[in-house]
Amino acid sequence: MRTAIATVSISGDFQEKLAAIAAAGFDGIEIFENDFLAFDGLPRDAARLVRDHGLEIMLFQPFRDFEGMPEPQRARAFERAERKFDLMGELGADLMLVCSNVSPLCLGGIDRAAADFAELGERAARRGIRIGYEALAWGRHVNDHRDAWEVVRRADHPNVGLILDSFHTLARKIDPDSIRAIPGDRIFFVQLADAPLIDMDLLYWSRHFRNMPGEGDLDVTGFMRAVAATGYDGVVSLEIFNDQFRGGSPKTISNDGHRALLYLMDRVRRAEPGIALSVPAMPDRVAVSGVEFIEFAADEREAAELGGLLRHFGFRRAGRHIAKDVELWRQGAINIVVNSEREGFAHSSYLMHGTAVCDIGLKVEDAAATVERARTLGADLFEQPVGPGELKIPAIRGVGGGVMHFIDDRSELGRVWEIEFEPVAEDPDPAADAGLVAVDHIAQTMNYEEMLTWLLFYTSIFDTTKTPMVDVVDPAGLVRSQAIENAEGSLRITLNGAENRRTLAGRFITESFGSAVQHIAFRTADIFATAARLAEAGFRPLEISPNYYDDLESRFALEPDLVERLKAANILYDRDDRGEYFQLYGPNYGPQESGGFFFEIVERRGGYHGYGAANAQFRIAAQKRAIEARAPAFASRTA
Ligand code: MG
Ligand code: MG
Repeated sequence: MRTAIATVSISGDFQEKLAAIAAAGFDGIEIFENDFLAFDGLPRDAARLVRDHGLEIMLFQPFRDFEGMPEPQRARAFERAERKFDLMGELGADLMLVCSNVSPLCLGGIDRAAADFAELGERAARRGIRIGYEALAWGRHVNDHRDAWEVVRRADHPNVGLILDSFHTLARKIDPDSIRAIPGDRIFFVQLADAPLIDMDLLYWSRHFRNMPGEGDLDVTGFMRAVAATGYDGVVSLEIFNDQFRGGSPKTISNDGHRALLYLMDRVRRAEPGIALSVPAMPDRVAVSGVEFIEFAADEREAAELGGLLRHFGFRRAGRHIAKDVELWRQGAINIVVNSEREGFAHSSYLMHGTAVCDIGLKVEDAAATVERARTLGADLFEQPVGPGELKIPAIRGVGGGVMHFIDDRSELGRVWEIEFEPVAEDPDPAADAGLVAVDHIAQTMNYEEMLTWLLFYTSIFDTTKTPMVDVVDPAGLVRSQAIENAEGSLRITLNGAENRRTLAGRFITESFGSAVQHIAFRTADIFATAARLAEAGFRPLEISPNYYDDLESRFALEPDLVERLKAANILYDRDDRGEYFQLYGPNYGPQESGGFFFEIVERRGGYHGYGAANAQFRIAAQKRAIEARAPAFASRTA
């Protein structure tokens, strides 16, 4: 398999694009005429620049409104083609994409189009050029790859082949398995794009909303499986028109694209084991059995404050690191690490972001294999020196420059708490153990533009799926929320994308200097018992407006008695077709205007599947009130 990306897919000038594309690991590019026209140099200079970056021009495009024209337009179309062949010669490009005709002048007729292509093929052959025909979903007469293939078949010229584009096939809901009947050696090039399912004009959808395979809702894997079944093992190329990408970082978009292709081809290889594909081998997507730990970076004073807050949630201090200023707080299966070292990664994270989550530890089947898969998919590995008696725990870089470590039971890693920590004896605490059993979900807040990047990161490395995106209403604007989760519910991460700086999420990003964990939700088996236990110990929950409960009663036809209990404990409620959900929030931690991060406690009953998105606006409103009132977050404990 060789990989390519269309230069229109990313932002920057020609040179910036090439640098980003090459660095991401692509073998070549599709060159768009416009990109080249804006380039300040001769075609030969452009070609040299491409070669200097170790890339190849794999396709020249687009050539429009060619086939089926009446005279004199037909003769002019051939004239135009000859001029493009000249240009291609100078660029060193030998494959031209001809997209199906959209002109109202176009006459239609498979044989007429085939005859035009036979002649074009003849002219192209004299120049050592090949022609690929692509059916646009909105082509006037040809808008289906099956018809394009029939044109190519009847043109019957070795220099004329088919170009397939997943968007055009899938957007029109054409069965991709119809590709399996096409001989692989007649497919000259394959373009891939995904897109979110939006009901809109095909052309507009295609030009503005395409995204990387795996980022949208189209069955690009099914499409590519069918292509692979034909024996095609040539170039797979990304042709992504997306307004956001065109305004984004060329480096990030290129890296995402390359990751998307590798991930896609890995899935195709696994789904079609009988087909030989030249795809880099990598371990399968990683099953995560749980969140093993969450680590905060803090300074000494804030570490003490954070400890006070954790104590308030029923955690006890369970250990101290053998060599470092690192404490372990524990409750149920939850391990919270508070790192106040003056050097190392946690410290640099602290200097950059303040007190914040700097590291997430996941429990996996095989930590080394996890890092191997992540590395193959272009993730950055993370390493720092380990001291005597410490374990070398495999790790990669995650959201916001944070780190993800992987723990397994295959090695010593599973005993990290015994090996690296000494137990501490503590006075019994009234709130010790409030019934929190595990991390339910981790909420990461980021700029909206980053969401697809991290969605692809998580879904390509880990055995997870994404939920549909939901809108969360902040009084200052919308926040988009999408969850990544596994079938067992042992890994749930919510990505929250802020579109502006005025929302609580947006302010949080500004103050954290980038994407970061904004809240962590702990799961309890009995939220009322947990709430009672915490209340005894002086815990002050986020106060929810009484109006919320009036509405709740009518919205869900709840027993008045239950509503009273929810209201008394400031517990939020939600329900779906499978079960019920209860949420209780603690105070925000941090002096910032956004309130900083916070903890949530949830109980899932039955098979409730969501995250209480409908409640988020009430929670946000309550937090804004609390932050404005500057309620001392946990005064009773730390005073
Ligand atoms: Mg295309
Ligand atoms: Mg939550």
